[in-house]
Amino acid sequence: MGQRLAFDARVLLEEVCYVFHRVRARGWHHGWVHVKTCAINVGVRVMNRCVRNPRVSCPCCGWQGYGFYWVDCGAFVVPWVECPHCHAHERWRLMRLFLDRRPPAFIKRDSGVVLHFSPEYHITSFLEALPNLRCIATDYTPHMVLGRGIPGVQADIQHMPFPDACFDGIFCLHVLEHVPDDGMGLAELRRILKSDGEAVIMVPFMMEWPGTVEFPAPDPDQFDHVRGYSPLDFKERLVGFDVEEIFPLDVMSPAEAVRHQIPLDSQIIYLCRRKKV
Ligand SMILES: [Zn+2]
Repeated sequence: MGQRLAFDARVLLEEVCYVFHRVRARGWHHGWVHVKTCAINVGVRVMNRCVRNPRVSCPCCGWQGYGFYWVDCGAFVVPWVECPHCHAHERWRLMRLFLDRRPPAFIKRDSGVVLHFSPEYHITSFLEALPNLRCIATDYTPHMVLGRGIPGVQADIQHMPFPDACFDGIFCLHVLEHVPDDGMGLAELRRILKSDGEAVIMVPFMMEWPGTVEFPAPDPDQFDHVRGYSPLDFKERLVGFDVEEIFPLDVMSPAEAVRHQIPLDSQIIYLCRRKKV
């Protein structure tokens, strides 16, 4: 009991220090967002322990409960995002159902090589279980590709160190919003993708924005994104690809979308194949 109290006191002290530093660095609003997020998640945690009939479940790990945790996004908080057990966010829950129920063709090939940008555990673990595929991780920052248990290559998506047409599949989720020249990055994806390969692309969307906006500098209020994509014009950027848009209801029922807490409008998978020339 004493150890538990000491642990709780240390966690509380760390949180107070974090809020203090955040208020100093970013202002009162950012401190308030963090305090609000923590308070809400304490309530969600209590409900997850108390409620006998689970109303949500995670397709990545099977966890069931009252609700997913809310996520502190700096200037704002997003509800019902993170699985308390495996930490899967909405896009990974959608991706898991997509890969299980409507997988890209390269998943079923006898053999193939897949490039995974900014390797995420929930996708990497799925790919590692497939004996027919060899997965290579890549990211701009070395710590994202080292020690991940799969071969890793530190690289800039705008200048990839791979020969033409060498990958059967590419996963590029929530990467392009960090890339200064996303057109160059997409051209590189096209170049290294086999003619019959498929690139799986997702980006975060600013749902209320009528068009994509380039930021003058990485925005610390938006996870250092260099632009905010609008769902109304993102597809136009996928030049040179035949694009299949996959929405949550293409891989699950409305009841499942509610149960897995996956928003219907903001989560879109772009399955891209090289246009025939
Ligand atoms: Zn989970």
